[in-house]
Amino acid sequence: MSAQSAKLPSFDPADPLGIDDLLGPEDLAVRGTVRSWAADRVLPHIAEWYERGELPGIRELARELGSLGALGMSLTGYGCAGATAVQYGLACLELEAADSGIRSLVSVQGSLAMYAIWRFGSEEQKQRWLPGMAAGETIGCFGLTEPDHGSDPAGMRTHAKKDGADWVLTGRKMWITNGSVAGVAVVWAQTDEGIRGFVVPTDSPGFSAPEIHHKWSLRASVTSELVMDEVRLPADAVLPDVVGLKGPLSCLSHARYGIVWGSMGAARASFEAALDYAKSREQFGKPIGGFQLTQAKLADMAVELHKGILLAHHLGLRMDAGRLRPEQISFGKLNNVREAIEICRTSRTILGANGISLEYPVMRHATNLESVLTYEGTVEMHQLVLGKALTGLDAFR
Ligand SMILES: Cc1cc2nc3c(=O)[nH]c(=O)nc-3n(C[C@H](O)[C@H](O)[C@H](O)COP(=O)(O)OP(=O)(O)OC[C@H]3O[C@@H](n4cnc5c(N)ncnc54)[C@H](O)[C@@H]3O)c2cc1C
Repeated sequence: MSAQSAKLPSFDPADPLGIDDLLGPEDLAVRGTVRSWAADRVLPHIAEWYERGELPGIRELARELGSLGALGMSLTGYGCAGATAVQYGLACLELEAADSGIRSLVSVQGSLAMYAIWRFGSEEQKQRWLPGMAAGETIGCFGLTEPDHGSDPAGMRTHAKKDGADWVLTGRKMWITNGSVAGVAVVWAQTDEGIRGFVVPTDSPGFSAPEIHHKWSLRASVTSELVMDEVRLPADAVLPDVVGLKGPLSCLSHARYGIVWGSMGAARASFEAALDYAKSREQFGKPIGGFQLTQAKLADMAVELHKGILLAHHLGLRMDAGRLRPEQISFGKLNNVREAIEICRTSRTILGANGISLEYPVMRHATNLESVLTYEGTVEMHQLVLGKALTGLDAFR
């Protein structure tokens, strides 16, 4: 045995590539805190919430997430934690290992609604909204998608017109996470100057947010329509520092980055369930994990899971260095969500009939990931982003 191999660390099935060696003490502390919060506050209840199609106690959960520093976590000032992108990513992974609905609550609050105000808002808007949102006292939502404009938001119909010093906002948004529980909505609308963002208190006359029911995915998450019927807003409701689609798109980039990590959380939870099951479930006189076909599935899943986490970590370091391009985020979202859903489906096969039960997390994660595959840019949109970057040819239309 060589001197080098004598010092080799043992193989850890939970971390086969030794990725934890890349994390510092603060990273590990953030991960540990969020993991134990989710184990305590989400995992004991999530199957029931999912079955009921509700996220009861969402306001209390938001306040707890606020006190953990998980809301607007990588933003600075205004009560935000100022964490690194890697730490924010680790938190997303742990939250989504519990449920994609909880990670969606945090992503929409921090990366979409708060980020829009933090990046493009006036000092008054930041002072008014961000501290309460960071604390989880005020929930935010982000209205971009419309019934007839999803992947192609440029044609949105929601519009805001100047009336004296005021703005008057009219239109409908669809599939809006946190909509019915939000105290503030960031709404994107056509104006004479181009697409602009508006910070809309949800108690404004003419604003309503009916909840969307009958979902088979993200059941433990509030999803709503936003209806704006001549909502009158003061001149200073507009986000002053951006005009055009680049505003919402840069918020989406930030949220997509969290999904690159989060999706690996759903994959990890499913893989762990399958690995445990494979070691204890016996057929033909031995554990099913002792059959080569099951081992091939487990090995392939472990490879994709830990490659995905490495990719997320790599993108996190680039974001922290200010060098992360949107195309690289598309690369990560495309790969990791697609692989995560495959891992859930393969895990489901290992659990056999038990795989379809809510007693195990696997089908819940798989059906959640159907939404994650579609929101924040569908698979096809990210393929087109990468296709354009690779070829220089725009195939969007
Ligand atoms: C649970 C959930 C929560 C959501 N939360 C929010 C939120 O908080 N805020 C918000 O604004 N939105 C939210 N969304 C909406 C989401 O972002 C959209 O669903 C998404 O952008 C896709 O739009 P669409 O559903 O209208 O699909 P469409 O755009 O109609 O696309 C349908 C299919 O056509 C494909 N397609 C479209 N154009 C092309 C093309 N040029 N080439 C090839 N294929 C194409 C798409 O990839 C897709 O497969 C949420 C959605 C879900 C399911």
